[in-house]
Formats: sequence, structure tokens, C-alpha cells
Amino acid sequence: MLNRAKELQVKLTGYRHDFHTFPEVGFQEFRTSTKVAEILSALDCRVQHNVGKTGVVGELGQGLPIVAIRADMDALPLQEDNQTSYKSQKPGVMHACGHDAHIAILLGVAELLSKEEEFPGTVRFLFQPAEEVGDDEGMSGAPRMIQDGAMGGGVEMVIALHVSAHVPVGQIQIGAGPSSGGVDTFRASIIGMGGHGARPHETVDPIYLSAHVLLALHGIVSRRLNPYDPAVVSIGSIHAGNAENIIPNQVDILGTLRYTQHKVQEQIHAEIKKSFEVAKCLGGDYTLKFEIGSPPMINNEKVVNLIKQTAIDLIGSENVHPPQDGLGAEDFGCFSEMAPGAMFYLGSMVEGDEREHHNSRFDVDDQCLPFGVAILAETALRFLRNGGFL
Ligand SMILES: [Zn+2]
Ligand SMILES: [Zn+2]
Repeated sequence: MLNRAKELQVKLTGYRHDFHTFPEVGFQEFRTSTKVAEILSALDCRVQHNVGKTGVVGELGQGLPIVAIRADMDALPLQEDNQTSYKSQKPGVMHACGHDAHIAILLGVAELLSKEEEFPGTVRFLFQPAEEVGDDEGMSGAPRMIQDGAMGGGVEMVIALHVSAHVPVGQIQIGAGPSSGGVDTFRASIIGMGGHGARPHETVDPIYLSAHVLLALHGIVSRRLNPYDPAVVSIGSIHAGNAENIIPNQVDILGTLRYTQHKVQEQIHAEIKKSFEVAKCLGGDYTLKFEIGSPPMINNEKVVNLIKQTAIDLIGSENVHPPQDGLGAEDFGCFSEMAPGAMFYLGSMVEGDEREHHNSRFDVDDQCLPFGVAILAETALRFLRNGGFL
């Protein structure tokens, strides 16, 4: 399978460079999804358009079981600083997370599987929009696709990969358990009563109140949670006032929280609320709203074992490693809540020049593409031919 994937190298590189040249941000993937649908149709896939707004679903094979493979398609609002022949032609938009590689790889998987003689069951290709952003209602691409039925019909396994700039080409990282954090956002205002900077005793100074609230917020993880429960509470934005001698009416605060277990999520919500109650004790008030984001991504042990064994057979056990822990967000967790699932990290490091994700100089070594194709395609085939998990 790896040799067959390597024969596709030129084509895969071509796909990636094309998507890289014309990047589109979340829920704007119009050109991208049109291209994807064209290529899938040419491979005799059954194709469904506009699944989760700008998503595309392709299918090969018939009946049960169903294996789903997901690739996210969106770029980031970032100006590219690379000077490659395929650099972004769209000012202020760039594929800086490697989703261009994910699309190219999944198209390669579809091509290889379309040439298989016969396999029992169905392979479903989920080309997902908007992994990086939510829409007006705060929903990203994965839950939107699920809403439109992308996981319907009895999907028994869902798999995906993400390129990693920190892992050398030819290697992967995979492990069971939580592999990304659940993420929620909170928006709050601390409400006081503004007035003259020289007469603070006649005001309720919300900036003073916010100092106490911030201290309480930053004590949640260090003083209130079990140290064995991974979690983060971070304040990313705080705004108030616009003159040195005017005490403002309110302070606006934006923050994010991360967790790996739902009971910890509930606990953090309660503790954040308590932290804002401090403003009331000191004579002010507050408003607080949570936006529930992606759930944590929990890699299923059986799926991990299947991917791991497949990868060991294809690239050798010396190239299959456990992942580094992190609480980054990834909405693949929505799919893997619906069916046993796992995502692995595919080494895509540009040798001698590490390119950070979400950085204006991010890039991918195209030699990684066939490795991703081979591991995903072979994992799906083994699952179907085994008639499920061994
Ligand atoms: Zn990203
Ligand atoms: Zn990403």
C-alpha cells in the first residue's frame, strides 16, 4: 500500500499546492469543495454537496460496516510570509495548519480505494469545513456536518490524521485516551458605576473589581482542581475605559477554558461563576455567558491499536511513537463521540527548519503525503476485511 501511495506523490503534491495557493477560511470553502467534489466524482464516488454548509461527503462501496475518514479543509486568516511557487495568492489568508495536506491525502485515499477490486462495506470520506472557527451560532464544521447526517447509517469507526511540524517525515504519533482538550469560551462584563478619576469613592470602579476577579479566576486551576485533572483557564482579552481620568462603567473580559473530562468542565464553569461573584461582594455586578465548544477528543483504544498495527506493518515500529500531551482544541472529537474513533499525528517536519502551526511561515514537507494516504487507506481496508475490530 505504501508503494502504491508513493506512486501518487506527484499528484498529491499537485493537489496540496493547488489548495495552498487558493486558501479559503472556515465555511467559505467554495472553490475547495467544488474541486474536491469534482475529483471524487471522477473516481466514481457517490458525492453529496453542502453537508455542514460547505462540506462534501464521498462514498465508495456498499452496505455495512461503514468506516468514515475525515479531512478538514479550512485555512486561517493570516498573511503568508513564505516565498514558494505555491504561496497563497489570497492576501491575508493562508493554509497555516496543514489542512491543505489533509485534503490532498484524503483524495489520495479515495483514489487508492477506488482501485481496490472489492471490499465488504462502505468507506465514507468526510471533507469537513471550518475546523478552526465557528459560525454565528458558535458551531464549527464537525457538528454542522453531523447535524446534516454525515455520521448516519451506522458508522462503526471514524479516523483522521493531523500533520505535525514537530515530527519527522516517515513517523507518526498515536496514543489512546484524551489527545486534545475540550474547549469552551466565556464572555463576561464586570459592571460598576463610572465617574471622575479624582473621586473614586463616588464610583464603583470596575477596574479595581476586575483585579480581584482575575486573581480568583487564576486560582481555579492551581487551588480548586485536582492536580491530576488536566485543565486550563486563560484570559485572552480585557478591555475597559479610554481616558486616564474617567473611571469606566464596565470591564469586558474574554477567556477560554480547556479540559479532558466533562465533570471537570462542569467544575470549571461553577468556579468561574464563583470568581465573578467576588465583584458582587465588593459592590459591583457582572454578566457571564459560556459558549460551549468542541468536546475533548478521546482516542478509542481499539481504533488506536488497529492504526498502530497498520502503521507498524507499513513504516516499522521504530517510526510509531506516543503523542505529546496537549490541550489544543480539535473538533474531530465531535465525530469520535458518535463512533469509536482516533486521530494520529503524521510527521510533516520541514527538515532543519521547524515551521510552527498557525505561523506565517508554516509549511509541510510534501514527502509526508503518501505516508498519510497509505496508513489511512490500509487501516480502513483492514477494518472492513476483518468485519470490524479483531
Ligand atoms: Zn489549526
Ligand atoms: Zn489543524
